[in-house]
Amino acid sequence: MLRAKWVVPAAGALIRDGAVLFSRDGIIACGRASDVASRELRERAQVMDLGDVLVTPGFINVHTHLELSAMAGRLSGARGFVPWLQDLLREWDAWTAEEQAESVRRGVRESVAAGASCVGQIAARPAADGVLTANGGIRARVFHEVAGLRSEEAEERLRAALERREAERQGGQNDGNGLVQATPPAPSVPLVPSVPSVPATRSENENENEDENENEDEDEKGEEWIRFGISPHAPYSLSQRLMRMCLDHAARNREWICVHVAETREEEVFMKTGGGPLGDFLHSSGLLPDGWRAPQQRPIEYLAEMGLGRSPFLAAHANYANAREIRWMASRGVSVAFCPPSHRFFGHDPYPLQAMVEAGVNVCVATDSLASSDTLDPLTALREARPLWPELPAEQWLAMITANAARALGWADRLGALRRGMAADLLAFSVEAGCQRPLDRLLAGEAQLSGAWVGGRKTLGADG
Ligand SMILES: [Zn+2]
Repeated sequence: MLRAKWVVPAAGALIRDGAVLFSRDGIIACGRASDVASRELRERAQVMDLGDVLVTPGFINVHTHLELSAMAGRLSGARGFVPWLQDLLREWDAWTAEEQAESVRRGVRESVAAGASCVGQIAARPAADGVLTANGGIRARVFHEVAGLRSEEAEERLRAALERREAERQGGQNDGNGLVQATPPAPSVPLVPSVPSVPATRSENENENEDENENEDEDEKGEEWIRFGISPHAPYSLSQRLMRMCLDHAARNREWICVHVAETREEEVFMKTGGGPLGDFLHSSGLLPDGWRAPQQRPIEYLAEMGLGRSPFLAAHANYANAREIRWMASRGVSVAFCPPSHRFFGHDPYPLQAMVEAGVNVCVATDSLASSDTLDPLTALREARPLWPELPAEQWLAMITANAARALGWADRLGALRRGMAADLLAFSVEAGCQRPLDRLLAGEAQLSGAWVGGRKTLGADG
């Protein structure tokens, strides 16, 4: 049991002289120290009094690409998104499999050090598969990425991503000794429905109001580290056919889906006209097939018309969502990952955060990857954004990296709050004695991370 001067069990609540009683299986009780457990229970539990500390739920970074961690400091956004993307692809293509794997490990290390206990991870390169899955120190919703502008390759592209994911699901589990590589995919891995509990023969309509069944990947100890999803990369990098197949697949199987959408002006121009810097790049690099025609729609409009919103959806960025699209996202329960460091890196227009919050969009704050962000710390990302919207209360900000984020990743059943039945993912921040507004101190960067527990195991801080 942890005792602390302050406990934030959920955004909007603050307990003075609080305690959290937990085991590896999860939180048994959280509340005032005097109420948390019977004396008998307390006597049997190991009690650690943390003193002048604020305890919060573990932070969740809903959008990142840990694969790109070794890009840290190597790229510039000053010339715009497209030159950045070209530089990124050139560097990335030159990496060996080991460099790729080490890049993921670096991302895991930096995330853990920042107190992130869960990430929304985009998995684009097979060489990186399994590295994160194998690490028991951090949870992840791993979205395997799908891309390809050639219609005739659509089936093959989706199948390859699902096969990679299936291989990762079956191999690469934590062996208790740190990192192990996933078993390489066998050539004959069949294409199976990604959520085993949903029969493949179901029609789409039957799934409309299905409850999520999200307990697919628990390890032997009952602790769950990885959940999966798919990521059709972006409206400009998939053929219409492939995008539709991905969305249909997700809707049929109630899968979590993440798409980079409305991230740049260039994307908007390309989707409307087929031209602009992004069009030029896709043409000149040979990625865009001859005869390709622009949908002549705004990116979110395009996805909406394709039926996005039938399954849980996380929109990465949505920097250029307009008022109508924001209302639509709110009505479809879309979650949004606002990435302040990446937003600054590219010098985007002001983010429509206020409009999203007012419309009721589930907004989360994330970092994006180290290719366009200088941090993997969700709190640092949040602190960067906060001065721009000083009227939003501290609790609402905290929710963007805890409760909202858990919901965005389909993990609100276990993560994002401290209460009975939730996973024991928690953080301890030292605050000065006599501090009366510990949450403000935390968000001002004046509270030092002094301990972290994930799944009830200490991952940071003294006393190992
Ligand atoms: Zn991204």
